[in-house]
Amino acid sequence: MRFHKAESAFFVFIVVVLAAGVLILHAYNTVYVSGQSLNDQERIDLLAYFARLLFATGVLQATALFFGIFFIYPLIRTQVKEEGKLRAMTESLSARSETLEHAALTDGLTGMQNRRFFDDALREYIEEFRKIDKPVGLMILDLDHFKGVNDTHGHDVGDQVLKAVAGCLRDMTRYHDVVARLGGEEFAVVAPNMDDALLLKLAERIRKAIAGLAIVSGNVRLRVTTSVGLAVWDRKETAEDFFRRADKHLYQAKRLGRNRVCA
Ligand code: GH3
Ligand code: MG
Ligand code: MG
Repeated sequence: MRFHKAESAFFVFIVVVLAAGVLILHAYNTVYVSGQSLNDQERIDLLAYFARLLFATGVLQATALFFGIFFIYPLIRTQVKEEGKLRAMTESLSARSETLEHAALTDGLTGMQNRRFFDDALREYIEEFRKIDKPVGLMILDLDHFKGVNDTHGHDVGDQVLKAVAGCLRDMTRYHDVVARLGGEEFAVVAPNMDDALLLKLAERIRKAIAGLAIVSGNVRLRVTTSVGLAVWDRKETAEDFFRRADKHLYQAKRLGRNRVCA
């Protein structure tokens, strides 16, 4: 077994203190036990011997003190400093990994969950709701003629519209709904515990709220509409099939003239 420098220093310190203790015990023994029946000369010799013992104890104590101050304490200081540095490093690393994980699952423009998060969440919700046998609703939204918004008003205004729609979706949904930007001008909501009727009602409310948004850019007030495809999980299909079904309804809404909900 290999000892750390601090441990070795500590053992030396203990040995020195123990030696001093043994010397004191020996001195006590010499004076009180052996010194009982001595003549004057022997007492003088004993006193001299006692003085040497005291001196040796003093030397040992000084050694222990020297060792403690110049070896053990600096080692402890260094260790404390290193531990502090290490802790700070670990904290900053774990904070960074949290930030990275957050960034990997968040859409930079809107601050919403991104496609990657959405895909995982949809799969997980399905697994959980299979166990409790409750409905899961899915809504896919795509802004209508959004290319035109960019072409007419510029990409920055387009971004502003996307942020406004994201805020609207956040406001209109519940805490446990998953609201994500799938990419471009396409969004999705996973709404657990919603059957066809409830999901349709929510989708209509959201569609109207988005159509009612007034995005102000300079002296223009901009309006956008959205097409929505719905599906309620049939309790058998995979997440991919479930998504495809809602997506088909979205394209049906587009085909039928946009700004509408299809289920
Ligand atoms: P449709 O009604 O059929 O959906 O028409 P659309 O114009 O909305 O659809 P299309 O797919 O042709 O165009 C989508 C546009 O969305 C094209 C692209 O410039 C724009 N877009 C995608 N991502 C962003 C973004 O992050 N910011 C902005 N401003 N525009 C984006
Ligand atoms: Mg579109
Ligand atoms: Mg699109």
